[in-house]
Amino acid sequence: MGTIPPTLATPEGALEERTPVALLIDDSPDVHRLLAMRLRSEGIDVVSATTGSDGIRIAQESLPSVVLLDIDMPGMDGLEVLRTLKDTEATLHIPVIMLSGLHSPHDKVTAFDLGAVDFITKPFDVTELRVRVRSALRVSYLLRMLSQRAQIDGLTGLYNRAHFDARWEEAASTCARHGRPLSIALIDLDHFKSVNDTYGHPAGDAALRGLAKLLVRECRVSDVACRYGGEEFALIMPETGPKAASIVCDRIRAALSDVQWPKHPERSITCSIGIVGSEGPCATAASGWIESADRNLYRAKKEGRNRIVATTIEGGVSMAQAG
Ligand SMILES: [Mg+2]
Repeated sequence: MGTIPPTLATPEGALEERTPVALLIDDSPDVHRLLAMRLRSEGIDVVSATTGSDGIRIAQESLPSVVLLDIDMPGMDGLEVLRTLKDTEATLHIPVIMLSGLHSPHDKVTAFDLGAVDFITKPFDVTELRVRVRSALRVSYLLRMLSQRAQIDGLTGLYNRAHFDARWEEAASTCARHGRPLSIALIDLDHFKSVNDTYGHPAGDAALRGLAKLLVRECRVSDVACRYGGEEFALIMPETGPKAASIVCDRIRAALSDVQWPKHPERSITCSIGIVGSEGPCATAASGWIESADRNLYRAKKEGRNRIVATTIEGGVSMAQAG
């Protein structure tokens, strides 16, 4: 299973105000001594790393509230570290403030392009640094709160699970009350763990984003595409019976398997899809639909993946298409 960054996985309204933790990545011990003392007296815990690779590891393990990152380090430099942090789902949303002793406008532009929130030139004034850290923490808190309220998944830009739950409940009850057609698809990337293990998490994240883009491109205006969790997506298709839903989903399945991925052009990525639908009135509860769709998804996996299995909600007519 893929992971959802803990910062976004907390339930709505549960954004806790833990003691902020700043991760300082800098090869100079002097900077560590100076900052650790000043930030701690501000009520900010400081975690230290003196190399880029240690910094990345600690960032992924401890998910700090903010990263202070030196550009000029031997080995992996700060820009490289920044690129990795912004390419990884777990650390994507952590604000990064760059520290640099160089007066290179080019580095500044690159750092902001890569997603840094601020840039401080050494030697820096500690008071200024402190207020900039505070400001970065405030902005990141607000952004997290907004993205939860807005119910948008931070990695893919699709609706998140909370939004899905609300919309699906509504769609299933409309179907029950008014007898309108309805279908739902659960879409799961095949062998996702192996993509992560073989090509690294940035490649896995690229696959998630890629599938999200295809969903948006191939589905209709009335469809609702959501990230259901990990490498699983859900597509709500109102006014659509299972046959029409199969056609939409097979377009998505085929388009995904045709993508050539920049990081691994030799390996394609496929998905399996479980669909249930109804052409008319249906009293099945929202959760019952999901269980049926999940069963069909499981069947699609078992029967060889890169395929869709679709049934009516009564479990009747079965349609399977393989790529
Ligand atoms: Mg340095």
